[in-house]
Amino acid sequence: MIAPRLVHWQRRHGRNDLPWQNTRDAYRVWLSEIMLQQTRVSSVIPYFLRFVERFPTIHALAAADEDEVLSLWSGLGYYTRARNLHRCARELVAQRGGVFPSDPSELERLPGIGRSTAAAIAVFAFGRRAAILDGNVRRVLARWEGIAGHAAEPAVLAALWNAAERHLPHDELQAYTQGLMDLGASLCSRTRPGCDRCPLADDCVARREGLVAAIPRPRPSRVLPVREQAWLVIRRDDEVLVEKRAPAGVWGGLWSLPEAEAHEAVEAPALALRRFALRTRAGAELAAVDHVFTHFRLRARPIVLVCESSGAGGVADETARWLALAQADAAPLPAPVKVLLRALGSSERTDASQNGPAGFEHGFHST
Ligand code: SF4
Repeated sequence: MIAPRLVHWQRRHGRNDLPWQNTRDAYRVWLSEIMLQQTRVSSVIPYFLRFVERFPTIHALAAADEDEVLSLWSGLGYYTRARNLHRCARELVAQRGGVFPSDPSELERLPGIGRSTAAAIAVFAFGRRAAILDGNVRRVLARWEGIAGHAAEPAVLAALWNAAERHLPHDELQAYTQGLMDLGASLCSRTRPGCDRCPLADDCVARREGLVAAIPRPRPSRVLPVREQAWLVIRRDDEVLVEKRAPAGVWGGLWSLPEAEAHEAVEAPALALRRFALRTRAGAELAAVDHVFTHFRLRARPIVLVCESSGAGGVADETARWLALAQADAAPLPAPVKVLLRALGSSERTDASQNGPAGFEHGFHST
């Protein structure tokens, strides 16, 4: 039995003071579990604190504008989580008065909540008996039971769920579940696990058989394709033009620089005229931006265009806006775009400081 050992170890060595612990508030538990998907605790903490300060209840989150939700999420990655989070809040408020169901199978039907997340919410918020299987827990169980292979293989995943269900105790569910998570995040790490201090070391199959480094088997490495594109950095005084991205796909729902195919870079001013009815001239060269996604590498070449049109041009709707450079950090932009605009803004402030204040004070506006 692993439960008594894990519970004992968790109480002494596990994490017991995280901002979303020591509460039965399903809203805070749910929010933390969504943020923790594929993201480390240390990265999540500042985002979680900002979120609950701005949206202290599910009703506040449901009433928020999507742009504000995405702004607060910006930098945490996997933006589908943020959009689903918002959808889930709205659905719960509209259909259940903002009350979370306690049954894992009902939780699993809500946007953005998979089987393991549903179980974690049910355990931590409602004390229900349910098995979790996040990435860290998969590694612990695979090693302890000697389940070889990769969890992307259906038979391996089924074996891991079977183990997760079999070892589930009937009491002290919270300490047990937290213990599994904590062990996977600390001693049973991917590289150089601390087996000598592990509460499961005595009967760990991977340790006994010398298979710790081989389990879990790494996902076969593959060379990611490179996607090249051009970003139009259309400048008007202290502002830059940004476009709303489609809700699905990469950086879905965020605002970003207008994109073009790499080969269209040479006709960037003509593109600005055609798409936004703005007359522009070429500006300074900027360094290319590289960003790695799960399935491809992005290499973006920013093309600076200085706006010479005096009117609004075609920039007067909900899909394209002028953004003050000074407001870029607070806007719902992808992290690499923020870095680029921050560099652009700071270089200009440096230049302007020799001639007087920069005077940035506007956020989004549409004309
Ligand atoms: S003994 Fe080592 S490999 Fe086995 S569960 Fe503990 S930390 Fe992981």
